[in-house]
Amino acid sequence: MEIKMQQNITVHCREILKDIFGYDDFRPLQEEIISSALSGRDSLVVMPTGGGKSLCYQIPALIFQGLTVVVSPLISLMKDQVDQMKQLGIDAILLNSSITRDEYNTGIDMIRNNKVRLLYVAPETLLKNEMIALLASVKVDCLAIDEAHCISEWGHDFRPEYRLIAQVRKKFPTTVCMALTATATERVRADIRKNLGFTESSDFIASFNRDNLFYRIMPKNHPLEQTIDFLNKHKDESGIIYTFSRGNVDRIYDSLKKLRFSVRPYHAGLSDSERKENQELFLKDEVQIIVATIAFGMGIHKTNVRFVLHFDLPKSIEAYYQETGRAGRDGVKSECLLLYSYSDIHKIRYFINQKTDETEKQASLTQLDALVAYADSGRCRRIPLITYFGEPYSIENCGMCDNCADPGESAEDITTQAQMFLSCIKRTGEKFGAGHIIDVLRGSRSKKITGFGHNLLPTYGIGRDLSKALWQGLAQEFIRNGLVFQDTGSYGELRITGKGYSVMKGDEPVSGKTTVTREKHSVTGTAADYDSRLFEILREKRRELAAAENVPPYVVFSDKTLIDICTRYPQSIEELTSIHGIGTHKMQKYGGSILTIVKSYCAENNLESKSVQVPSQHEHLKTPRHVQIGQLYNSGSSITEIEETAGIKRSTIISNLNKFIQDGHSIKSAGLTSLLPGDTELLTRIIAAFDRHSTEYLKPVFEELGGIADYDMLQICRLYYLSRE
Ligand code: ADP
Ligand code: ZN
Repeated sequence: MEIKMQQNITVHCREILKDIFGYDDFRPLQEEIISSALSGRDSLVVMPTGGGKSLCYQIPALIFQGLTVVVSPLISLMKDQVDQMKQLGIDAILLNSSITRDEYNTGIDMIRNNKVRLLYVAPETLLKNEMIALLASVKVDCLAIDEAHCISEWGHDFRPEYRLIAQVRKKFPTTVCMALTATATERVRADIRKNLGFTESSDFIASFNRDNLFYRIMPKNHPLEQTIDFLNKHKDESGIIYTFSRGNVDRIYDSLKKLRFSVRPYHAGLSDSERKENQELFLKDEVQIIVATIAFGMGIHKTNVRFVLHFDLPKSIEAYYQETGRAGRDGVKSECLLLYSYSDIHKIRYFINQKTDETEKQASLTQLDALVAYADSGRCRRIPLITYFGEPYSIENCGMCDNCADPGESAEDITTQAQMFLSCIKRTGEKFGAGHIIDVLRGSRSKKITGFGHNLLPTYGIGRDLSKALWQGLAQEFIRNGLVFQDTGSYGELRITGKGYSVMKGDEPVSGKTTVTREKHSVTGTAADYDSRLFEILREKRRELAAAENVPPYVVFSDKTLIDICTRYPQSIEELTSIHGIGTHKMQKYGGSILTIVKSYCAENNLESKSVQVPSQHEHLKTPRHVQIGQLYNSGSSITEIEETAGIKRSTIISNLNKFIQDGHSIKSAGLTSLLPGDTELLTRIIAAFDRHSTEYLKPVFEELGGIADYDMLQICRLYYLSRE
């Protein structure tokens, strides 16, 4: 009976996923989190931006009888989410300072009459006595705390009122609590746990790898031209250009506007109304590009941002991860380009060195070094990026960064150029930066050169054949290769290393990437293997539909949905239902107008529907992770081996194996025996408990055993139990 009921719940969640949300599969951890909430366990959910955190409380909210309360710090986000819920036919309301008294009262009435599934509130609203009294008078089944890092003083967005939520929570002891954040640092997580009284066993930590983001770094030679080049490759796509200063924003904006790009600026120097208008136009797809300082982005939930370009170096790896993370929330491939120059680094280092506070100075230098290491790395970009957050990542070729996707570009012999460069450094006494060395090599007639008499050196002008830009790229390559190092003092002078000397003597060849080869492969747009003409037609329709309801276009349909339609040309209701993101409600609301467009387009162009359920070209054609792990495990690797060789956490392996079993696969029990409790009597008791309570939830088993086996142990025993079935 019990088993049946719990199995029904799992099936029910999948039905909701498809019928209401229009999605075929859960993302990693979503299903586990949902079932944990449904079984009454608190959870700390850590997922990167776009990982799909909201779904983790939205689905339980549709199953619970009582209300789900979502605390959210940003009014714009609340509105966005409520709009999205309404588009899906879900009763959701928000209560915060942005609404009128009448709207507020209507909302309260709806809650009293149990007409609402999800209530979004601002923390200060939740803390009001009247709100607490209201909630106490109805059944609250779940309290979800979004952006939970606001609880922590270590977070980037500490909000004192957030810490008080814990007290409200105490007043609702039977309400399950879910804290959600995209903050990756353990210190912040620990703070959240402590404040809410969670234990580590309530953690659900997803991978921070954003596999639909393509990371690219280019030497910054002619930044504006490089930007324009990049934008031309991303025609008609939405994106953000980040730059360091307001002045830069204005300059880039002016240049792009002259070239008739659809662009607006955003920085703290603009008036509130200008900023608001520009942001609004961007959200509504009326403007494609925003040039901004880092003031832009907080609370932007636009899902179809296709690129993020860093015109200048970001502040830290964390900042870079967060800023690039605004691209591709909808899971569609998106590109992040960083324009990188040694002179930028040099400038920043100079500013840092001016700081008087020694600790602060050291912290900034460490952050800068991590960034330099990221940019200089010749290996997969994901390795330094993801491991920075303490997550193991060891896949050598991700296929989605410049270093992995542009193979063969490293094969060039650049020994001669290296020798010229090194001997020029030597002859100028190791006192100058790369810019000066390059000027000497290229035979510049500047005063600085003649002033030092460097025009008389034998190396003067010997590198004339190569462009300045190419030399800059080479200089970076030499630093990367460890032939020279740049002094961190104020002039950035280059010094020759031991390795550099052996290259000069001809004992060691040098090969590497040069700007030329890099530029050749440089920018690739989002692969266009869907029908882009139909995409444009649908996009226009989407804009129209969205304008009529006064919501942003991505709330009506995500880009991924449009791409799916433009790949498969659905022409019947059944076919349209199989499209990503189209559930019952959207089908009813928009199905007719979409089908009309697709049908007439196909008739005009002699196209047929591709109704077979092929995954869209943009989805990774890779085997899902849990299947990979399951196969690896079944092929004879023990859990410990997988942990070590693939760098995957034990808890992740176990939850993936569990999912593998749930998919109907079986696993070998042999690889588990070493992890089982040594005490056979305990094992027998655990197995008997699973017999009684089924394996869906661990809590009843845990309770029956009175805590002598912890959840980690029970997870392993459950796998063992299932492996024998
Ligand atoms: P987060 O809050 O973690 O940044 P969201 O909850 O906004 O992410 O989800 C990002 C996007 O992914 C949303 O458009 C959401 O509807 C979509 N999404 C969530 N879960 C799934 C899923 N299982 N399959 C497909 N899309 C999903
Ligand atoms: Zn890579």
